[in-house]
Amino acid sequence: MATLETFRTETRAWLQDNCPEVIRGSGLSFAGGDKEPIQNEDFKSWFDACVSRGYTVPSWPREYGGAELSPAEVKVLHEEMRAMRAPQPLVGMGYSMIGPTLLEMGDDEQKARHLLRIARGETRWCQGYSEPGAGSDLAALQTRAVSDGDSYVVNGSKIWTSGADKADWIFCLVRTDPKASKHEGISFVLFPMDASGVTVKPIVLIAGTSPFCETFFDDVKVPKSERVGPENRGWAIAKRLLQHERFSIGGPSAPSKANKLSSIAKQYVGELDGKLADAHLRDDILKNEMSARAFKLTTQRSAQENAKGESITFATSMFKYYSTELTCEEDELKLKAMGTQSLGWEGENFSRREIAITRSWLFDKALTIAGGSSEVQLNIIAKRVLSLPD
Ligand SMILES: Cc1cc2nc3c(=O)[nH]c(=O)nc-3n(C[C@H](O)[C@H](O)[C@H](O)COP(=O)(O)OP(=O)(O)OC[C@H]3O[C@@H](n4cnc5c(N)ncnc54)[C@H](O)[C@@H]3O)c2cc1C
Repeated sequence: MATLETFRTETRAWLQDNCPEVIRGSGLSFAGGDKEPIQNEDFKSWFDACVSRGYTVPSWPREYGGAELSPAEVKVLHEEMRAMRAPQPLVGMGYSMIGPTLLEMGDDEQKARHLLRIARGETRWCQGYSEPGAGSDLAALQTRAVSDGDSYVVNGSKIWTSGADKADWIFCLVRTDPKASKHEGISFVLFPMDASGVTVKPIVLIAGTSPFCETFFDDVKVPKSERVGPENRGWAIAKRLLQHERFSIGGPSAPSKANKLSSIAKQYVGELDGKLADAHLRDDILKNEMSARAFKLTTQRSAQENAKGESITFATSMFKYYSTELTCEEDELKLKAMGTQSLGWEGENFSRREIAITRSWLFDKALTIAGGSSEVQLNIIAKRVLSLPD
């Protein structure tokens, strides 16, 4: 324990020295690659310092750019960063999804080719999973990869590929055996987005631009050395990656909102005897805040219970489900408190914070769908966690 306390003291001092005050609480982030480079010089110096110390990917081995921190040390690091409001230096699918999956399931050459580049923020990744006919039923995917010597030739299309227009590489599910049962003929491949035959078309939503893209593959040549795991056995890798994705959305180190529900409600509804004036709303807010606190403690306990840090299991579906639904409930309560001030999308009649709250209310609903919808998480919990019959 003394060692952990020493680590905390040293980490706090290092953060003080290396995280410029002006970027604390700024919400700045970087997902890697050079299509959306870091613009802010202070954030750049913070990012570079983290790269040198292995803090962009603190738990990864040193040879892949990490600091080899234990789960307990990572927790301390995150606590100290949160206390200082230091921005997370690296975000994105390289850091949270394909990186951890390659660490577990990639071969040595793939790790050497990709992991250090992710840790240094040199590459940005996107996820080629969903297709027009394969969302919740992901294993119905039809993008085809045909063997051609040392390569595959990939044809098909993906949809909702977040950030595909900014990404350098894609991790992609392809069908390599159309005759096998649907879960068994899938392989997991990696290829650069500037490969010949890859076309990206951004999707414009009713609210304007979005990170979503359609991604088309026409005779894209992918070396077999970029297939992760055995041919036709990509489903196991796909599922593992989804656990990492769900962990990043709902696990203990997922970005948490500062729960300002009570103070926002007091501002709009007013106070009576030092309490929120609306008794019903007060009751609902209290329940939400208690649930949020209980959830936080549960995720922390779950991470601590496993000394190896193997907290990424099917239980991540519970965390993903609960945290995203709870956030939506919190958003609804904010709206209830704010009344008509919560209905602005833009314009002078609404403050910046009001508009941000309204937009969060709409965006957070998407998190109950991304990485597998809430209903799909409930199915997984029933089957894999509770062992209920199909
Ligand atoms: C913010 C966001 C980012 C995303 N980013 C990516 C990305 O980068 N790459 C990528 O590949 N995909 C991405 N997606 C797509 C996402 O994975 C799919 O939207 C999701 O898996 C649901 O698939 P679908 O949209 O086809 O809905 P459908 O599968 O058509 O589902 C429609 C409705 O039916 C329900 N339903 C379906 N099957 C069942 C069932 N068996 N039991 C109970 N209810 C069921 C669902 O819960 C949902 O409410 C993203 C989605 C969002 C919202």
